[in-house]
Amino acid sequence: MARRKYVVGNWKMNGLRESLDEAGAIFAAAAEHPSVDVALCPPFTLVGAMAAAAPGAAVGGQDCHAAASGAYTGSVAAAMLVDAGARIVIVGHSERREGCGESDADVKAKAEAGLGAGLDVILCVGEPRKIRESGGAIDFVLAQVRESLPDSFDPTRLAIAYEPIWAIGTGLVPTTEDVAAMHGSIRAALSERIGAGAEKMRLLYGGSVNGDNAAELLGAGDVDGALVGGASLTAGKFLPIVAAGAALS
Ligand code: PEP
Repeated sequence: MARRKYVVGNWKMNGLRESLDEAGAIFAAAAEHPSVDVALCPPFTLVGAMAAAAPGAAVGGQDCHAAASGAYTGSVAAAMLVDAGARIVIVGHSERREGCGESDADVKAKAEAGLGAGLDVILCVGEPRKIRESGGAIDFVLAQVRESLPDSFDPTRLAIAYEPIWAIGTGLVPTTEDVAAMHGSIRAALSERIGAGAEKMRLLYGGSVNGDNAAELLGAGDVDGALVGGASLTAGKFLPIVAAGAALS
């Protein structure tokens, strides 16, 4: 089935209010590619302002807490993101799995919280370099998918982002054959789990995507979009990726 390409920028811990002009430029130019869904996930501090400055644009959080409210200093609930104007949330990014000790069970609870609050979810998975080198990448990632997925969900509201950890921010990328093999395996595992609905789910690739490699990566089998870190910070670097998605649509 035809799935719309989805290109999502993860600004990580980058951006001040002065960066809102850049986001405005990205959303304005992205509107010229209506066949591609484009979203930006800035730091929490910019979610409200970015959403207010670009009505109708898809703005998201980079994480949410699993609980609805409570004594969780420094955390943000999914409903708070909605309240600020967010429409999506990233959960399970490797920088949180590794840096903050988040388990698959934590990621599952966050995904459920996001969906429950009305956010679309991008759930990240990906293997470390040693696992890739040992030949165990597919088994490792499929275990993450199985353990992190909510028990039930609307497949049009949950996307999986495959982000090999060794490719994030390094300039290294897997071969398109390896990306296609991973995405095909993820799709097959989803199909086993939820049946025909798996065809509706978008599978994004993330890890050093840029304007030069986007066409090849976005054109690989079962790749429905990209989760982009460094190259999403400026319109000049991000828009060629969006254009590559549009050219494939
Ligand atoms: C990311 O962290 O989600 C990511 C893909 O980063 P980069 O594009 O910078 O590798």
